[in-house]
Amino acid sequence: MTKNLKTGFGRCAICGGQLIRELLAIQEPDRFERHLGVTRDGYVRRWVECDSCGAVTNVYPEGVIARLESLAAGYYEVDFRSSTIGQKYAEVMSLPAARSDNAQRVGRIRSFLAEWCAAEGGKESRALDIGAGTGVFLSRFLQDTSRDSQAWSAIAVEPDPVAAEHLRSLGQFNVRQEVFSADSGLTGFDLCTLNKVIEHLADPVRLLHEASSALSPQQGVLYVEVPAKETLLHRPPEDNILGALHRHLYDVASLNAAIGRAGLVVMRIDRLYEPSGKISIAAFAARPEAAEIRSRRGAA
Ligand SMILES: [Zn+2]
Repeated sequence: MTKNLKTGFGRCAICGGQLIRELLAIQEPDRFERHLGVTRDGYVRRWVECDSCGAVTNVYPEGVIARLESLAAGYYEVDFRSSTIGQKYAEVMSLPAARSDNAQRVGRIRSFLAEWCAAEGGKESRALDIGAGTGVFLSRFLQDTSRDSQAWSAIAVEPDPVAAEHLRSLGQFNVRQEVFSADSGLTGFDLCTLNKVIEHLADPVRLLHEASSALSPQQGVLYVEVPAKETLLHRPPEDNILGALHRHLYDVASLNAAIGRAGLVVMRIDRLYEPSGKISIAAFAARPEAAEIRSRRGAA
């Protein structure tokens, strides 16, 4: 493929930098692409690093993005052909905490919130999970926080009809079957979570910005978790994380850049080595007003 050296593979959607350095070329369509009729004939998909923020962008063969977008609201049909989403839920929920990425995530968030919240006694807190998927996160979060003194209620937003039906069947939280946006009318949340969601989006900064509108301006916390770009070095090219459904892989600097460009303040950001072997980046962020309030309280 001939590429103008100056423009490389185009612009980084996160920071506007140049996509220059190819880190991996994949020669085989993954199972989602095959499902959509993409063949291996002349197929090359490339993971290309931004020279500015360091995020790695999935650069597709022509025509593939349009096909993938046709799958957008129905990918569980492909993903769970051999088992049901309910079985997947039961399987993950039954893992012992030490072996569960999800239990570790819930622990991480509870411990951040314990430091962050000046919880007003007796008032119920509200959580919003965007892209709730199997629902394992919200279920575990509600179970584990029910042992704390703070009461929580939650809303799950999930566009996939199969997943949304499953989430409703759990009967633990409200479910909105839709694509979340700032127009969803969801506001004032104490916690908003994007667990392995923004890596699926061509424009992650936009969703981060829209999610900020769902946060309580005084104390809302946004938790964002994404796959780390080191995955490129430690997993085989056919690994799901390197597949066609993921648009970007991140490091600490690039997730920090994405959150900052969305107008939020990063409060904490970490690299995670998850029990499943996944390497991920996780950040806690807040609106500038909330960060300011927390700083004043911290300095008092
Ligand atoms: Zn960039």
